[in-house]
Amino acid sequence: MKEPITLGDILAARKRIAGHIIDTPLRPSQSLTDHVGSPVWLKCEHQQYTGSFKLRGAANAVLSLTDEDKAKGVVGVSTGNYGRALANAARNANVRAVICMSELVPQNKVEGIRTQGAEIVISGQSQDEAQKEVDRLVSEEGMIMLPPFDHADVIAGQGTLGVDILEQLPNAETLLVPLSGGGLLAGVALAAKAINPAIRVVGISMERGCAMIESLQAGKPTSVREWPSLADSLGGGIGENNLYTFDMCGDLTDDFVLVNEAQIADGIRAAYIDDQQVIEGAAAVGIAALRAGLIDNPGRTVVLSTGCNIDMELHRRIIGGEDVDLAQEAEQSKTASSSEGH
Ligand SMILES: *Cc1c(COP(=O)(O)O)cnc(C)c1O
Repeated sequence: MKEPITLGDILAARKRIAGHIIDTPLRPSQSLTDHVGSPVWLKCEHQQYTGSFKLRGAANAVLSLTDEDKAKGVVGVSTGNYGRALANAARNANVRAVICMSELVPQNKVEGIRTQGAEIVISGQSQDEAQKEVDRLVSEEGMIMLPPFDHADVIAGQGTLGVDILEQLPNAETLLVPLSGGGLLAGVALAAKAINPAIRVVGISMERGCAMIESLQAGKPTSVREWPSLADSLGGGIGENNLYTFDMCGDLTDDFVLVNEAQIADGIRAAYIDDQQVIEGAAAVGIAALRAGLIDNPGRTVVLSTGCNIDMELHRRIIGGEDVDLAQEAEQSKTASSSEGH
């Protein structure tokens, strides 16, 4: 039987990872405050080492391993940011790491993982296919699997972000949390509601395939088609045998909001032009939702800006005002390469 995760686990994680992460700033956003008419802050976790909050969970999970398990090495599946975080956490602990990814992971993220010294395996068109390679390394090579969200130590690590936010802004009223596998939302909401039960937690995802929301609506883990999206870090399923995040996100989320590609691009642009922050699509969904008027009565609001690992050429195009549609571009490059005969 699995034990429920508690605030105590999150506080223990916070001590464990303290020397391994940076305390990221909580930055007031004048432009978002003007836009929505109530105070808005950005939790600048895109400034975290490795470029995303994922380092919190990965560091907590690696540092929690026994010496015997550390010697076996760790393996995980990733849309990019978790891979980079796990590779970094493993390298700092002198542990072998293998990261398995689908072909949808952008090249800049693959390179980011390689520079952290991890071994890389690329297979299939979805997270679920990449997961098969993880399962093989566990059964054939005895490696230790550390999954990107559905693991108690990972969730506790992500939850440290909730504790930090409420320490920086004890009277926060609304947290806007990007949602994919739900490790972030589960941890942050658990911590935040344990400290202040009245706080409102909004999970935000992209219209192009939010597995958690569709699963909660269906009452069981459901797989969705994976589309190329500006919020590439929000892709992937929640796992057929989900242990923690499905139940926790169902219990702890007050509202769910979906944003489209144009809104995500607008969020990336606004973060750069108004708040001088380079952020990736997944990190922009909260800003996008606020600017699109999708959050009712936000009150004192903290937007979790979760990562900065965006391809710089893509960022340049978005800032320049181009309407980027990555799904259409993927289709076009397929047709172009088949008509060239390779
Ligand atoms: C992974 C990720 C998320 C979503 O986190 P989950 O725990 O999978 O819900 C959001 N933003 C960024 C930048 C990420 O890398």
